[in-house]
Amino acid sequence: VILFWFAWLVGCRRSEQAPCAGCDVVWITVDSLRADRVGAYGATSNLTPSVDALARRGTTFRTAIAQGPHTLVSVPTFFASRYLHQTGMTFDLAARQQYRRLSENVTTLAEVLTAAKYETVGYVASPLLAGPGARFGIEQGFSKWTGASDPEVTKAGIEQLEEVRPEASPLFLYLHYQGPQPDNPERADFEARHGAFDTPIRSARGATADLYMKIREGNVAVDPAGWEWIRALYDDAVQDTDALVGQVLDAVSKRRRPTLVVFSSDHGESLGEVRDRPYLGHNQALWDEIVRVPLVMAGPGVQENEVRSDGLAELIDVAPTIATLLGIAVEPAWKWEGRPLLGPGGGPGAYAISTSRSSTDVHGIIRDLRAKVLADRVAQEGQRFDLDADPFEQSPMLVDMGVDPLGQVLHASWASSRIVEAQMFASDEDRAVLGETPTAAPTGEPTPQN
Ligand SMILES: [Zn+2]
Repeated sequence: VILFWFAWLVGCRRSEQAPCAGCDVVWITVDSLRADRVGAYGATSNLTPSVDALARRGTTFRTAIAQGPHTLVSVPTFFASRYLHQTGMTFDLAARQQYRRLSENVTTLAEVLTAAKYETVGYVASPLLAGPGARFGIEQGFSKWTGASDPEVTKAGIEQLEEVRPEASPLFLYLHYQGPQPDNPERADFEARHGAFDTPIRSARGATADLYMKIREGNVAVDPAGWEWIRALYDDAVQDTDALVGQVLDAVSKRRRPTLVVFSSDHGESLGEVRDRPYLGHNQALWDEIVRVPLVMAGPGVQENEVRSDGLAELIDVAPTIATLLGIAVEPAWKWEGRPLLGPGGGPGAYAISTSRSSTDVHGIIRDLRAKVLADRVAQEGQRFDLDADPFEQSPMLVDMGVDPLGQVLHASWASSRIVEAQMFASDEDRAVLGETPTAAPTGEPTPQN
């Protein structure tokens, strides 16, 4: 009887405290996917039926914020569960010699799962994250990390999922799609579905990275029909990527192993939204269409068909949420700054921070559900936006960062990072690996698309 009672107690504790103990974990990110293109986030154009089906099986975090506005300042933050200024990373698209790699002092989710006997595998379609030019340490903790195209990511991911696994060795599979980033060519049926776009920028090659660059530099003007054409191409690419994601999710469903699934993007994308001048793409700006991302989780311990709109989720919360659901206690030594979004005491938070960083400045936003404050790190004055009245962030109110409640939190976050940051700048050895010296002139290499 005592033995039975003990077994019941253990089983009970496990079900309450670690509903997904031993689960496999599949985390899929689609680069540059705006939250507002996802049906689960209110989009009515049915571009993402696969992600929407996942959302019905799980929990959607309605206001989810990326901690950086492009790939190399977002992905390392969510793997390390730290704000950008705590990772050692810098990535400046305008001054390539200023790169810093991810500090080896951080503890990544993959390292934590490796220690928990997981096999950690990433298939990654971003040339900034994997491949010959990707030397930023993003793969820290993965036993296998492979650069691939979107179709190859799908194929390799499915093959990995179909492998028979030993019970004692669960899988952490990370799949990163390039998604709707240019080049976005016109599909064969493009005109039949969207109509003809009467715009001088239209070409059969579609929206190329080169065109994006020329528009950003002001060398190509875009008329209203041109913006509609660019958005149609983006939407088609979202739809195509969702179909690939759907193949992976089907493969997950066919397995017998309990699996925790996470779907997110790394940041969004500007598509000609009206500011002081229309902007396209993503780089250093922190507007809502760039920092708001989809975030859906499903699996044992995750409530089905649930939408959490009672606070903000940050992508740095995903790692501690996964750990909590798996029954892995988050150690203080890891210095994770995210908090569990699910489980006892977990949930969305009161605010979210996103930071951009270049060779010349650090600036960031802090956002709650109604307002957003944007500031440079060294500036005493910030800009506050009332997001209900001004959703396109066109009418800032100047605020004193020492007085504004959100501004105070942002400044405190930056202030707390100074010592850590000083220790984390890349060593001379790192710089040598990157082919740079502190005083190096620009290399003249083409600016990569993020
Ligand atoms: Zn990205």
